[in-house]
Amino acid sequence: MNINAAKAALAHLELDDNPASIRSKSRDFFWYSPVLKARLDHVVADFVVSPRDEAEVIEVLKTCYAHDVPVTVRGAGTGNYGQAMPLAGGCVMHLKNMNQIRAIAPGRVVAEPGIVIRDLDAQTRAQSGQELRMMPSTAATATLGGFIAGGSGGVGSVRWGALRDLGNIIRLRVVSMEAEPQIHEFTGEELHRVSHAYGTNGIITEIEMPLAPAYDWVSTVLTFPGFAEAARFGAELAAEDGILVKLVTVCEAPIAAQYFQRFKGHVDEGDNTLHLMVAPQSMPALETFLARWPAGKMIFRSDAHDWSRDPGVAYEYGWNHTTLRALKVDPDITYLQVRYHGADFLEVIEAVRARFGAELMQHLEVMREHGQVIYAGLTMVRFTTEERLEEIVREHEEMGAMIFNPHRYTLEEGGRQSADARQLAFKREADPKGLLNPGKMIAWDVPDWGYETIYAYAGMRAAE
Ligand code: FAD
Repeated sequence: MNINAAKAALAHLELDDNPASIRSKSRDFFWYSPVLKARLDHVVADFVVSPRDEAEVIEVLKTCYAHDVPVTVRGAGTGNYGQAMPLAGGCVMHLKNMNQIRAIAPGRVVAEPGIVIRDLDAQTRAQSGQELRMMPSTAATATLGGFIAGGSGGVGSVRWGALRDLGNIIRLRVVSMEAEPQIHEFTGEELHRVSHAYGTNGIITEIEMPLAPAYDWVSTVLTFPGFAEAARFGAELAAEDGILVKLVTVCEAPIAAQYFQRFKGHVDEGDNTLHLMVAPQSMPALETFLARWPAGKMIFRSDAHDWSRDPGVAYEYGWNHTTLRALKVDPDITYLQVRYHGADFLEVIEAVRARFGAELMQHLEVMREHGQVIYAGLTMVRFTTEERLEEIVREHEEMGAMIFNPHRYTLEEGGRQSADARQLAFKREADPKGLLNPGKMIAWDVPDWGYETIYAYAGMRAAE
């Protein structure tokens, strides 16, 4: 790895070698996990470069290839798994300057990867009355490229499913890391080569996404005295095809009372809460539906309320924002990502609650999967030790609740514990030296890895 030669060759680009800023651009939200915090805190790149267009991306890749310098691409660094952290050092390629929209048409938008999702939505709304079908709850800071390469779904998934579902990404333009970088245009099955691949096998330089009609979504909060009923309400509301919702979040008591500062005085320790985004024209139907559930109460609606402090948009209480709010109050909280599907998913959730009691607090998000309503759990855990966390994971799996482990930094361990043949095959073609985001794809490093223990990337730079 010849860092100095690469830096000299790229000196005419926007290059940052200030140690404090390199350190901050080498980090993401990995610290959500005490397991990752213990392993990745020291990780730092050698320099940061911010290309302005695809030609400069190609120049960076070609130069780093020639000098054997690893390249880890960065959107906004809001990922939770250390995805954007340069384990082997080298170059962080920051895409903040590639933030233009190229075209907006009925049902679609073409944009550069570094655009912040909220800015993209503002422009598609203003110009065409449309918005992205789904976005992470970090839309105010996260980039579109980071969402495609590192995210999975979020606000909107209640209606549209996950990012990986057919039709939720239209086209990706991707640059490879070779002596002569190649440009690829992917649609259909080929999208799976690089979507959710953590930038390990190509740099996405242009994205075409589907759009839906935009609404002034009404943020709504409901309370229920019983969690099981709140969870059933959420699932049944999402299955009401005529009621247009973009978010259905369920939080077990006492999450709202303890961690949502602006809810003080409006909720009790025993209140389980639902946080909804509802299209304005669907509010009367929501009220009708709620009237069939005598235990449920609407305590807030953003279009008509008398709270002295506005709690803000509903989605910043959902997805991983729920965990963030808890962490701000109690740093010993961590979380799990769970999938509850199958006909008996509400029973499995209740069995998990009975098994773990107060050690876990349930936080559920409704998603659609092949037309069915399911729950994703972003369960809060009162962390004690790594061993206990592992036990909790194992017990969930034994009870039929699938875990996507957020305490791992590799694609495989954070996913389905198996190699993705399409991503690996494309990496062989597009990154022959293995320089893109090294250490994140186990199948590249150790093809026969057995997943019995946490993977430790051998090429990770030691702490100084
Ligand atoms: P980064 O963190 O910078 O990058 C993510 C990954 O993508 C990295 O591996 C990076 O190398 C790679 N990458 C970035 N740009 C490119 C590119 N152009 N080409 C190839 N690879 C690239 N995620 C969800 O899916 N849904 C949620 O609702 C959600 N809520 C969150 C809430 C909180 C409070 C936090 C902290 C995180 C949440 N996340 C969520 C995770 C994360 O915020 C999102 O996935 C976000 O979209 C990542 O965007 P980013 O620009 O920050 O990407």
